[in-house]
Amino acid sequence: MRGAVLYGPRDVRFEEREVPKIIKPTDAIIRISATCVCGSDLWPYRGINPIPQPTPMGHEYCGIVEEVGSAVTSIKPGQFVIGSFFASDNNCPNCQIGYQSSCQHKEFVGDAQAPVVRIPLANGTLVATPDVPSADMIPSLLTLSDVMGTGWFAADAANVKPGATVAVVGDGAVGLLGVLSAKQMGAGRIIVMSRHESRQKLAREFGATDIVPERGDEAVTRIKDLTAGIGADSVLECVGTQESMAQAIRSTRPGGSVGYVGVPHGVELNGEKLFYAHVHLHGGPAPVRRYLPELIDLVWNGKINPGKVFDLTLPLDQVAEGYRAMDERRAIKTLLRP
Ligand SMILES: [Zn+2]
Ligand SMILES: [Zn+2]
Repeated sequence: MRGAVLYGPRDVRFEEREVPKIIKPTDAIIRISATCVCGSDLWPYRGINPIPQPTPMGHEYCGIVEEVGSAVTSIKPGQFVIGSFFASDNNCPNCQIGYQSSCQHKEFVGDAQAPVVRIPLANGTLVATPDVPSADMIPSLLTLSDVMGTGWFAADAANVKPGATVAVVGDGAVGLLGVLSAKQMGAGRIIVMSRHESRQKLAREFGATDIVPERGDEAVTRIKDLTAGIGADSVLECVGTQESMAQAIRSTRPGGSVGYVGVPHGVELNGEKLFYAHVHLHGGPAPVRRYLPELIDLVWNGKINPGKVFDLTLPLDQVAEGYRAMDERRAIKTLLRP
């Protein structure tokens, strides 16, 4: 089979790789229905994270179970399943309190931009849909593997409550799905920081009520102006830079919460400023697995349609163009079909 391999900055190749096989009795083999490029794939793609050797890519996946190891009992061949980018046993103390992305036995699934993938800890990791979905539902189900679950976690970690005023820093796919999540959780007002017209439009479709195109100090001032000088109750930080994190904390009201899911790159917090900001900070790699049953239900019943974030669909063999389009911000998110 052929799959995506990153060789160096802006050098993704679609090349021959070994077909994955069951290695441990707890594994499952999935035939991928759809996969995609993640905003976080752009960190190594841009050379910001070093690439020491050619590295298979892709951590968002859904598809049909092809084969299971002898210890797998929760799913069976022929079922359509979704899993997180971190395989987890869903059983250890950290999983039991809902932090499966801190599972004591977690394993990263990093080679899903391929036709077939091996998923470790299949019993804990994979969740089957009620039936094999229709083709038009697959993009939305695919988002539950990471980007939607991450937006949902950002909103959950930011303690979004019915009626709350929410601000979202970042208009990438996660930020946009953070908007959808906040709306679903009952937010009264959702302010999005964005200066891209197509993204603003989708943000409004997902429930944004206000758009702030400014950045830095000016953005903070605008948020304060929009909230009677107080700041937002809940702020979702979906970028991971020093500027975005500072903007998120400064846009939050005293007693409010920041949910941060942008993978930090060079973020340093000033202890004294943090002390006087009086905000709750909670974030990290999203425990996507915790939300899968609930989010599958919402998609299955047509309550949410997060698949709208895919504005480019390509055959998997054009994966390099999928990365390029996102790198150049021509696409919000690229869906790939094997
Ligand atoms: Zn991802
Ligand atoms: Zn665990």
